[in-house]
Amino acid sequence: MSIRSKYNIAFKGLSIGKHVFDYEIDRKFFAEFDGGVVEDGNVNVCVTLEKQSSLMVFWFDLKGTVYVQCDRCLEMYDQPVESRERIFVRLGEKEFTDGDDLIWVSANDYQLNVSQLIYEFICLAIPIKKVHPDDENGNSTCDPEMIEKLNNYIVRDDNESNPVWNDLMKFLDNE
Ligand SMILES: [Zn+2]
Repeated sequence: MSIRSKYNIAFKGLSIGKHVFDYEIDRKFFAEFDGGVVEDGNVNVCVTLEKQSSLMVFWFDLKGTVYVQCDRCLEMYDQPVESRERIFVRLGEKEFTDGDDLIWVSANDYQLNVSQLIYEFICLAIPIKKVHPDDENGNSTCDPEMIEKLNNYIVRDDNESNPVWNDLMKFLDNE
């Protein structure tokens, strides 16, 4: 049985009102998804279902860390993630489309699997620019050795690939 079945929320038998489901997301969860955006992490996800007669509201409160690669020094680090997302679930035939936050499920369905939603919300919570956070003194916590290696590479590469720029600098100096 796939671990995804842990994320089935059987809404049919639930009473009208609020129901809370807690999940601890770890490496095993991320292994279920292709794409490689995140392969490891620890995220606490609290799903609150507000059940009404013909509509359900699912709130997703996420908090934790994901293990990702730093864009600056290329080392792995724990990126904090925290977010609150909401989706609406309606039962029955799709009558209208109301943005990305509405899901239609068949009137015969009795459960909703939230694993894909949780994965997408975690990915959305990761900042576009992923870098090691600064320490309490505001200094970068990137790997200094890697930064130096990368800088050397970039400088050397610039000199080799920009002879035109060097000639232009000489020209400007002579003026
Ligand atoms: Zn870094």
